[in-house]
Amino acid sequence: MFKSLEGRSVIVTGSSKGIGRGIARRFASAGCRLLVVSRHFGEASAVAAEITAAGGEARACAADVARPEDTEAMAAAALAAYGAIDIVCVNAGIFPAARLEAMTPADFDLVIDTNLKGTFLSVSACLPALKLRGSGRIILTSSITGPITGFPGWSHYGASKAGQLGFMRTAAIELAPYGITVNAVLPGNIATEGLAGMGADYERSMAASIPMRRLGTVADIANAALYFASDEAAYVTGQSLVIDGGQILPESLAALAAT
Ligand code: NAP
Repeated sequence: MFKSLEGRSVIVTGSSKGIGRGIARRFASAGCRLLVVSRHFGEASAVAAEITAAGGEARACAADVARPEDTEAMAAAALAAYGAIDIVCVNAGIFPAARLEAMTPADFDLVIDTNLKGTFLSVSACLPALKLRGSGRIILTSSITGPITGFPGWSHYGASKAGQLGFMRTAAIELAPYGITVNAVLPGNIATEGLAGMGADYERSMAASIPMRRLGTVADIANAALYFASDEAAYVTGQSLVIDGGQILPESLAALAAT
């Protein structure tokens, strides 16, 4: 039986929808106090209201994770609301597709600034508060795309997601003396608003390429994040967990067809 996380103060970036919303709702159902963060206050507030209506505790905060002044304000908002920061889920991310021939430096910068620099800024803003707790938890939402696989149009995205893991390994060493762990979830294809934007054909073809023959759910990812946040995972740091229904396993189309 895992020890309760009741009362822990949790920031989830990018939690107005998709995986982040799923993580926020899961942690709230475990008794945590949530700061729901996205660039749009109205959308973050709607998720905070949803959590509150379900009997949980949540506040909303508008912050662009690519802006240091915003991530500082985000950390300050969590401290003002709950007096501490125990867990930071660094989840905000974007995945606009652009093939190399068409990719502009601005396209590249936007993805790296949000997904990778945003990871650094979110962590560093929360660090002073996390250090005070002696058992802080940082959980990054990376991806299979980049660290393990590739997909045309996502070279910048893949670089940002692989970069998060490089960041994680050194951060895990630096923060271990403070009892802070840094781990990452690596989702496969998860049914979210962001993925729906890729179109029904994309979703169908991805489901067909997954041994479990379905996209993942936000709850699949949230449960893994909850494990990394637990007291029982105190000795696990610098690690990544793939949650993809077996998507990275088949060595060929024939391997899938043979099932
Ligand atoms: P989503 O449905 O598009 O949601 C993205 C969330 O991030 C929204 O709440 C969005 O809110 C927020 N956001 C975007 N840019 C932001 C910024 N600069 N500052 C603060 N918040 C920002 O995406 P998702 O599919 O849930 O993906 C979430 C994370 O999982 C991403 O890091 C993504 O790379 C990763 N991931 C997703 C999948 C998948 O299949 N869905 C697979 C692997 C990895 P606002 O627009 O209001 O800011």
